[in-house]
Amino acid sequence: MQVIRRGDRGDAVVEIRAILADLALLADRPPATVDAVYDAVFDAPVERAVRAFQQARGLTVTGDVNEETWRAIDAARWHLGARVLSHAQPEPLFGDDVRELQERLLELGYDLGRADGIYGQRTAAALASFQREVGLVPDGVCGPGTMNALRRLGRKVVGGRPTLLRETEKFRAAGTALVDKRIVIDPGHGGGDPGIHVQDGALRWTEAYIAYDLAARLEGRLAAAGMRVHLTRGPAPREPLSESGRASLANELGADLLISIHLDGHANPWASGVATYHYGQYGDAGLTSTLGERFAALVQREIVVRTAMRDCRTHAKTWDLLRLTRMPAVRVEAGYLTSREDRNRLIDPLFRDRLVEAIVAAVRRMYLPAESDVATGSLDVSNLQAVGAAGG
Ligand SMILES: [Zn+2]
Repeated sequence: MQVIRRGDRGDAVVEIRAILADLALLADRPPATVDAVYDAVFDAPVERAVRAFQQARGLTVTGDVNEETWRAIDAARWHLGARVLSHAQPEPLFGDDVRELQERLLELGYDLGRADGIYGQRTAAALASFQREVGLVPDGVCGPGTMNALRRLGRKVVGGRPTLLRETEKFRAAGTALVDKRIVIDPGHGGGDPGIHVQDGALRWTEAYIAYDLAARLEGRLAAAGMRVHLTRGPAPREPLSESGRASLANELGADLLISIHLDGHANPWASGVATYHYGQYGDAGLTSTLGERFAALVQREIVVRTAMRDCRTHAKTWDLLRLTRMPAVRVEAGYLTSREDRNRLIDPLFRDRLVEAIVAAVRRMYLPAESDVATGSLDVSNLQAVGAAGG
């Protein structure tokens, strides 16, 4: 879709305004301006409301409505109980009401994976189990009767965070050896989308190219350690891939881990450093992937220690790739292509090897039992297979 931004007008703006006002992010229009023209303008207050919305949802704060923000705004119009929820094919229902229901079911201990706001097969099955246990017809349809049952139970205090415990259990149960673990490496952009790109004299550097090169190096190292490695794209895909497409690929492969490789860019040439992102939402601890957070922290620290790049830290985000994947997933922004210092390092193949070595160490440490974990920067990744075998 086309990005809707400040100065735009039209029906889409009317809709965005109405939903943001409903969320109390946008004050009512002044009484003197009761006309449709006013509603149809994307003005400064709308931009402020969009920013506040993006901030609250863990989206990238841009002030304009891109596809991801639109989907979140569109989902926000639904409050739990306002419509009947059921598993629809081929277009499943999507909305904040679905997510709220999923969170309630997760709190109650039903296994439906991640609260992704999509009413899929697993959500319907979890709801049916709930219905069976409270003596309702287990049809997987959330109507008024089921809503009443949920209300009667009241809001349970979230203590155990079942979804995270389950994610952790599954990960631990898989064992500490790297051999046969499935990892998906996702080089960002590609297929006509260069990502961040800069002209440096006669040379043109693109994020898509460097991300792929890093991914290919990482693939070699991890495959040599016995991992099953998949890349989401080749060096020159015919078409750009959506973030949700990349997420479903990782889900279909049943990946144990996912790492997405990007570079950053900024109008300010002094902006530099490395940052990592994991799935999570501010103000709602129940929605944070602890394993994702741990993986992100390990990648971040290993890179910072081994490359001395500036530490732009680890952050929680609800980006599609992180939200829709069912395994610990991390996106690393491995330096600013727009920073001369970062760029000079990134275009050096030896530096890229060092960067990849840091990620390999982080992957390895994800599988080390807590008690045998080692200090950052100290893990020798030159002979991983031996380490993996010794670790069992
Ligand atoms: Zn990127």
